[in-house]
Amino acid sequence: MQQFNFPTIILYGEGSLNALAERIRGQVRHVLIVTDATLVKAGLAAKVTAALQAPGGIKATVFDGTHPNPIEEDVEKGLEAYKGNGCDALIALGGGSPMDTAKVIRFMAAHAGPLAQYDDAKGGDKLIVNAMPPLYAIPTTSGTGSEVGRSGVIILRATGKKTIFFHPRLMPDIAVLEPSLTAGLPPHITAATGIDAFTHCLEAYFVNAFHPLADGIAQEGIRLILKHLPIAYAEGSNLESRGAMQMAAAMGATAFQKGLGMIHSLAHPLSARYNTHHGLANALLLPAAIAFLEAKPLDDGAKVKLERVQDLFGEAGLAKATLSESCRNFFAILGVPFGLRNHKVPEGELEGLSQDAFEDTCHASNIIPVKREDLLAVYKAAY
Ligand SMILES: [Zn+2]
Repeated sequence: MQQFNFPTIILYGEGSLNALAERIRGQVRHVLIVTDATLVKAGLAAKVTAALQAPGGIKATVFDGTHPNPIEEDVEKGLEAYKGNGCDALIALGGGSPMDTAKVIRFMAAHAGPLAQYDDAKGGDKLIVNAMPPLYAIPTTSGTGSEVGRSGVIILRATGKKTIFFHPRLMPDIAVLEPSLTAGLPPHITAATGIDAFTHCLEAYFVNAFHPLADGIAQEGIRLILKHLPIAYAEGSNLESRGAMQMAAAMGATAFQKGLGMIHSLAHPLSARYNTHHGLANALLLPAAIAFLEAKPLDDGAKVKLERVQDLFGEAGLAKATLSESCRNFFAILGVPFGLRNHKVPEGELEGLSQDAFEDTCHASNIIPVKREDLLAVYKAAY
């Protein structure tokens, strides 16, 4: 017996934001918009507020105190704004950080502190039992797919560690994919976030588990990214490609409920130690990780998967001699500055990084099992 879960309602295309406002009018009175200062400055929070406040509309308070790596204090301040203003719903506006923060504010609005007791690694999900306010997610990047995800990551004050909070009901009620909200992303962020979505699709597809729905979604996500990411990168105002990348990001996150793999385990310590953008970290490591797989004796199931992705590169006119070379070439088109040495990673720390990567749980579902030495070899190859 297996259980398959698929995401929330997705409103897609220009006009989605207004459609959300219409849909929730009469159901909610006062929304807390959880976002960050950059998005307020870019005018995106005002755009959302205006859509909500259209005649007969909904009150909105903006909380822009989310850090790029959200901390416990962000949740506390957001919760204070939520309660202090008598809010009855949440909107997460932004990339992964406001999404994470809003999800955690959502359950803390209905549960007593301290936050640490809800740590997923300690079985805290079982304490999330009360009815929670509605949450609507409006992504402004196309990468994490957090708008269809069920967890939030917050750095706890006491431990200083990134801590996962998870519950199936933390998935937003409605995700709003309005392409023009991502049109202002600069090319290097478009590339890095898009490559994160690509890595989600690829690693999820590679996971050796029975999930034909997720596999189909992951392959179509890869096809969309190969076609549209170079266009969104070169021509940011192309809303067709911006929209396709929003879908692909949501598809990647939908697919990776199957699991991820070694590339995410290798990428996480780079961001933790050197603050490397998560998508860029994936980009720097993925070609070397695929080359590592290509050099291993793979069973037929795994071989077919690598060949299938290489076929998708072929269909997009982007195939090189091997899958790792196809990926490297694709990322080069997207301006990825390869080489860990070019990103403030000291060569002497590769050993330590490989230990951190080995302790990361993502590689548990890698297409083949990996040892610490394997991870070290990939870091060296990517250096
Ligand atoms: Zn990722």
